[in-house]
Parts: sequence; structure tokens; C-alpha cells
Amino acid sequence: PRLYVDAPLVASGVIVLDDEQSNYLLRVLRLEDGAPVRLFNGRDGEWTAAVRKASGKRAEVTPTGQIRTQDGQIRTDLTLLFAPVKKDQTDLIIEKATELGAARMVPVLTERTQTRTVRTDRFRKIALEAAEQTERLDLPEILEAATLDAALDALPEGMAVIFCDEAGDEAEAPWGGKTGRARPMLEVLEGLKGRPAAILTGPEGGFTPGERAFLLSRAETYPVSLGPRILRAETAAISAMTLWQAVCGD
Ligand code: SAM
Repeated sequence: PRLYVDAPLVASGVIVLDDEQSNYLLRVLRLEDGAPVRLFNGRDGEWTAAVRKASGKRAEVTPTGQIRTQDGQIRTDLTLLFAPVKKDQTDLIIEKATELGAARMVPVLTERTQTRTVRTDRFRKIALEAAEQTERLDLPEILEAATLDAALDALPEGMAVIFCDEAGDEAEAPWGGKTGRARPMLEVLEGLKGRPAAILTGPEGGFTPGERAFLLSRAETYPVSLGPRILRAETAAISAMTLWQAVCGD
């Protein structure tokens, strides 16, 4: 098993696990004293450790050796700005964005966002479990929900915003086709290699014309088409991140 611990990882530094992790190791996996586990904390790479029953129902782990150092290279930064949609679909977005290496995620409350209660504590738990499974060394940062302009204003100066624009320009080409302002995503990505970027996807009802006009008026905002069909928000987020990883990720 591979676990995230919020504690320094140093040889022989005993870490007492919480109830949930203790239960998982001792009662679900029924690990015996000395059984090996792997630990990461988002800062000190990945370590092997030995598990031991501690007092009460708790387990404790003792790091024994470092097997991976923290990603040395400065990875190109991907931020996902997503309008929350229905619970299960939003959970899927969080999990897949973690697997696909998003450095941070921001729930964006757009005019047509139907989900008003945004459970970032729940998102963080999903992201943590996905990071354990996908063998990431870091945890994605899940920011509090923000309005569209606040989320954009909070981005580092000059960050490219890849705006998944399902409508392109309704007047000209309904689905971001050739004459719509939205250009095929792969084409846009060619020009964004090596640049930190934010991918923006909308809610079930899409962006309003006012939001689209606001977005297209911003510098460094690139409307992209993900093809001629209407994708569900989670499909758009996952496919946009996958394309970004394939072309710009490192
Ligand atoms: N507004 C659309 C409609 O009228 O049915 C639906 C919005 S779609 C369900 C949710 C989000 O996914 C959109 O806001 C957009 O960000 C993204 N999306 C869906 N299809 C897309 C496409 N073909 N190209 C680019 N983005 C797309």
C-alpha cells in the first residue's frame, strides 16, 4: 500500500497513523508487524516504511529508506478552472485531474453553475486518494470556489488560459468549427509548449454570451474547440487535460 502522511519523512522517525489509515492497514489489509508500506508527504519524495501495531487501534509506520526523490525538474504548471457540475461528475473531474497531473484546481462559479454548495474538503479527500493511487509525489492544491473573474484575476500574471469554448461563435459556426473563434485545441497547444496554463471548462449550461465576451476580451485567453459535438463538462475537462499533457506536459 502507498499512503500520504502529513509528517516529515526521515529514517526511523515514527509516524502514528490516523484511525482510517490504521484501520485500512491493520483490519482491511491485515498487515503484520514489519510489513512494508510506501509513504509520501508531498515534500520529501517517497519512502519505504515498516508498519507496526501501536497502542489502541492505531498503527505506526517507521520510514526505512527513500526510494524516490521529489520531482527535481520544475514541471510545467497546469491549473484546472472548472465549473462544478453534478456531484459524481465533479468527483470524476477531481480524480482525473489528479491523475493527469494538475498542480491545482479551482471550482469556478459561473452564471449558469447549478451546483452552489462546493465541498472542497470532499474534493481534497478525493484528490489525496487519487494521488496515492496514481503514485504522484505531490498533492494537487484545491482552492476555494471563486467567481469567474476572481479565479482569473488570481492567476499568475501572463498565464495562458485555455478556454474550452463549446460554442465558438454561434453566429458563425455553432460548434467552434473552422470559422468560429475557437481553434482546434491541438493547434493552440503547439504555441503554448513550456508555458504554465489554466484550462477552463463550463457547467452543464455552458458559458453565457457575456462570459464569453469577457473571456475573449482578456489577453492570453485562447478559445479552443474540442470537436464539433457537445461534450459533457467532465468529458471536456478530461480530454482537454489529456491533450495538454500530451503536448505541453513534462
Ligand atoms: N453550452 C452547451 C450547450 O448549449 O449544450 C453545453 C456546455 S458543455 C455540457 C460544458 C462545457 O464543456 C462547456 O462549457 C465547455 O467548456 C466544454 N465543452 C463541451 N463541448 C465542447 C467542445 N466541443 N469544444 C470545447 N469545449 C467544449
